[in-house]
Amino acid sequence: MTKKTAKKSETLTEEEYLRLRREKERHDRLYHQEDNPEISDAEYDDRRRRIKDYEDKHGVKGSSSLALASKAKGASRAKNSHTVKGRAPLPRKGKRVGAAPLKGFRKVRHSEPMYSLSNVFSPEELEEFVARLQKFLRLDEVPALSAEPKVDGLSITLRYEDGALSQAATRGDGKVGEDVTANAKHISEIPQTLKGGNIPKVLEVRGEVYMTRADFARLNAAQEAAGDKIFANPRNAAAGSLRQLDDSITAKRPLRFFAFGWGDHSRPLADTFTVARKRLKKLGFKTLTDVLLSNSTQELREYHKRLEDARADTDYDMDGIVYKVDRLEWWKRLGAVAGEPRWATAHKFAAEIAESEILDIGIQVGRLGTLTPVAHLKPVNVGGVVVSRATLHNPSEVAAKDIRVGDRVRLQRAGDVIPQVLEVVSEKRKAGSKPWKFPSFCPCEIKSAVRIQDNGKRAECSGGRDCAEQGRARIIHFASRKALDIDGLGEKSIEELWERGLIRTPADLFTLEERDGKDAPPLAEWDGWGELSARNLFNAINAKKSPPLERVIYGLGMPMIGEVAAYDLALRWSSLSALRGVAEAAGRSELSDEWHALLAVEGFAEKVARALCGWFADADNLLLVAALEGLLSPVAPKAGAGILSGKTVVFTGTLERMSRDEAKSRAKALGAKVGSAVSSQTDLVVAGPGAGKKAREAAERGIETIDEEAWLALLGDG
Ligand code: AMP
Repeated sequence: MTKKTAKKSETLTEEEYLRLRREKERHDRLYHQEDNPEISDAEYDDRRRRIKDYEDKHGVKGSSSLALASKAKGASRAKNSHTVKGRAPLPRKGKRVGAAPLKGFRKVRHSEPMYSLSNVFSPEELEEFVARLQKFLRLDEVPALSAEPKVDGLSITLRYEDGALSQAATRGDGKVGEDVTANAKHISEIPQTLKGGNIPKVLEVRGEVYMTRADFARLNAAQEAAGDKIFANPRNAAAGSLRQLDDSITAKRPLRFFAFGWGDHSRPLADTFTVARKRLKKLGFKTLTDVLLSNSTQELREYHKRLEDARADTDYDMDGIVYKVDRLEWWKRLGAVAGEPRWATAHKFAAEIAESEILDIGIQVGRLGTLTPVAHLKPVNVGGVVVSRATLHNPSEVAAKDIRVGDRVRLQRAGDVIPQVLEVVSEKRKAGSKPWKFPSFCPCEIKSAVRIQDNGKRAECSGGRDCAEQGRARIIHFASRKALDIDGLGEKSIEELWERGLIRTPADLFTLEERDGKDAPPLAEWDGWGELSARNLFNAINAKKSPPLERVIYGLGMPMIGEVAAYDLALRWSSLSALRGVAEAAGRSELSDEWHALLAVEGFAEKVARALCGWFADADNLLLVAALEGLLSPVAPKAGAGILSGKTVVFTGTLERMSRDEAKSRAKALGAKVGSAVSSQTDLVVAGPGAGKKAREAAERGIETIDEEAWLALLGDG
């Protein structure tokens, strides 16, 4: 069974912590790049939380610092954090059946980030959430929380200028979304102009576009009758219907809208969320109705249970309850961490379970050679999603559960995940069925031997560079959303290009156009292609010739280098050749300055540094880097742009008006790094009453030192 919650007082060793971090990166990769998650959302969140607990306990810089926006196109990115909820924004929801890849929408930079939400899964975790709020805000009582359903649809933001709808955009990665103004104008529940008096000059209203279950069923019936695509669930149908380049299609779809938030605004809507919700209603929006305002966790729990029980009878899909601190003044103080506001959380509903039959078990090859068994299932509806595949994780998992082809199995979908096989329904096992054996050879063309490691927890192809499946997976990773994000270059096209021998490494993508028609018929003449689609593909590739450096680094798929690490490396070394130089020198000697420079990157343990050096020690990788350097002009990220940008701040003594956590997070939000000790790197010391050694050291070194008053003035809170 899925373990949903971590042991409360778990004490991780450093090694366990590092392992968890690696695992998390791997699961991010499996989810986003390989479309093949091995664990449920609940398990993923559990790991995330254990990592964060460790980091909090040991003062590891990272999770609590975060605020930039990662999760690259899939991610609001939190620098240095390894607990970024890297699987949130668009992708989770957009990835299943029915989520067509989209080209052609204009990108819109959000004036304020569109957040994702942290999760709690149990009453205990709700208590912990509340306790954290109290600690952060230094409150003795539980703050009033506003609770409302979490609608399962597609998040959008609507900008109104002088009361008129001027722009609608999807959430995208939380920082940049897609312009869907033309589409949104067809949704009757989205007002074209705001109603009532006292209309703010600028107001961005945020909420969820969704489809009711009844409308969804009708739409699917009509689609089926017309031989068109069937949507897996109301959320996919809503997303697929809104994000149509031809907005006349959107016009025909039964979309609705609930408002539950706001972004940029020229004037505050209210002092509390409850009143703000009423204001939104007066302005002409539909808001959620069965809501609760309470400062009793008992009451909140009962409310959660009542709505969970009523789920089947509700005419729209909901996947949990959202709790928000009611008093808006506190939102600013609480801020956000890792692209998630501290002032809200989602209390998810329990997993949904269904039964189906295993038709076959296949093997999926990852770009690092990991072989994952995948169950092909008789399609079944699990909590509203039609499922036909489920990961079986690794050889030992299949053996432990004794999963066989032909078995009936129970499947679980927790929240929003590709399902897990919970167990075999043994009484329904067919007579004569045989235990499944992990194949001895990789499905790749050269049929390399399979290496089983870690007591069956890991299987890998021994073919290395010769395994075509891995080669393809590496290019798929390079072109994927969080890496180069090449529009329209999905798995299928990459496979086709590979089959025809046109690509062997990511660099080959950038010479495709000039080679087109030389060694094979021109792309435009291939089955299923054409002038326009060939042109679109070349344009999409050409558009990525000056990509963000961190995406290139991430896209190279070095072991242990996830998005966050890639960003940190790009920030520190600004070019591929600089990074290569450092990695090569560091690889030669662990006494070198370069080795120490690598370890100085936040969150870089020796193993990570070694993995990086190992990657750069491989001749093929160096060739690839050299080729990419000749073809691309990557752009390095700039350090934070706040008023404390590039500065290192150290806090000492007790601050009376805010907790240390809040002070640190505010400093980071302004672009600062927060140091724990005064050193030559320190630019500013904030000293509250009781400051001792650190303040003295600062004075000796002549480092600027300010008191709490001046700190508040600097924040603009004074
Ligand atoms: P997640 O994407 O799972 O992190 O959840 C965050 C998303 O939940 C937000 O971006 C909203 O689109 C969505 N959501 C649905 N209902 C609500 C609600 N009542 N309040 C806030 N967010 C909601």
